[in-house]
Amino acid sequence: HSLSLQVIRCRAAVAWAVGKPLSLEEVEVAPPKAREVRVKIVATGICRTDDHVLEGSFLDIDFPVIPGHEGAGIVESIGEGVTSVKPGDKVILFGLPQCGECCFCKNPDSNYCLMSHLSVSQCLLPDKTSRFTCRGKQIHHFLWISTFAEYTVVPEFTLAKIDAAAPLDKVCLLACGFSTGYGAAINTAKVKPGSTCAVFGLGGVGLSVVMGCKAAGASRIIAVDVNKEKFARAKELGATECISPGDFQKPVQEVLTEMTGYGVDYSFEVIGTADTMVRGL
Ligand code: NAD
Ligand code: ZN
Ligand code: ZN
Repeated sequence: HSLSLQVIRCRAAVAWAVGKPLSLEEVEVAPPKAREVRVKIVATGICRTDDHVLEGSFLDIDFPVIPGHEGAGIVESIGEGVTSVKPGDKVILFGLPQCGECCFCKNPDSNYCLMSHLSVSQCLLPDKTSRFTCRGKQIHHFLWISTFAEYTVVPEFTLAKIDAAAPLDKVCLLACGFSTGYGAAINTAKVKPGSTCAVFGLGGVGLSVVMGCKAAGASRIIAVDVNKEKFARAKELGATECISPGDFQKPVQEVLTEMTGYGVDYSFEVIGTADTMVRGL
């Protein structure tokens, strides 16, 4: 009864080629095959990584593609063998999959599942076909999940059922940005109470780092961004000081050293440029 064989026509944002802006199109979304789930996307975040796709920064992305990887929605139909969700369930789609069976999923210190983009291509679903077509052309998937579409089809191992009362427009951020930033502070750096932290870049991920440092009990959280409009929100979330590199003659890392005596205990680069990664070190 839960199998739906209909093709759904809906809207999606398609990236036709590197360097081209997203184009709002009508697409066809085929029904889910075995161990796949078709999801009605209710909310999606926009992560800077989606923009890196449009810029052509990733060599392993095939165009045309539907980007987007911070999605939350409602299961529309399920393919054969799907056991963890049923139509009507609220779900989050993961930026990083969790097959639950590989060595990385079983190791509590890692989460780069062998079904993630570091190990396998996600431009097509696991059976090497796409569920999306547009104007007669096959459109590729992105990170398995392509959330810039009103409906998407994903492998079962890229989603999780969530509480029916969860606000989808907020929990979609758990799919990538929030988990990446908060987890960097709590799980990767293991920030200690009373320590000093610097956070370079106050986008969705950087603000989540600030929240993680605060939750870990850091006594100073110095937020750095070239855009001062980010400072009010950063302070609201736990930054104790905010600085803009443009306000200083000397390099920002020297400013941080002066502010702290010997530099910070933890430094987070949350912009994504090689230059700031070196300065952060
Ligand atoms: P964002 O664009 O929302 O935020 C970046 C911030 O950096 C902006 O506030 C910008 O003003 C600031 N900035 C830019 N240049 C700066 C400079 N020279 N000095 C100080 N501040 C500067 O991006 P986001 O969505 O928060 O993502 C941040 C980075 O993390 C991106 O490169 C993204 O691709 C990457 N990312 C990685 C993962 C992962 O590895 N799992 C997950 C999510 C995002
Ligand atoms: Zn992301
Ligand atoms: Zn796995």
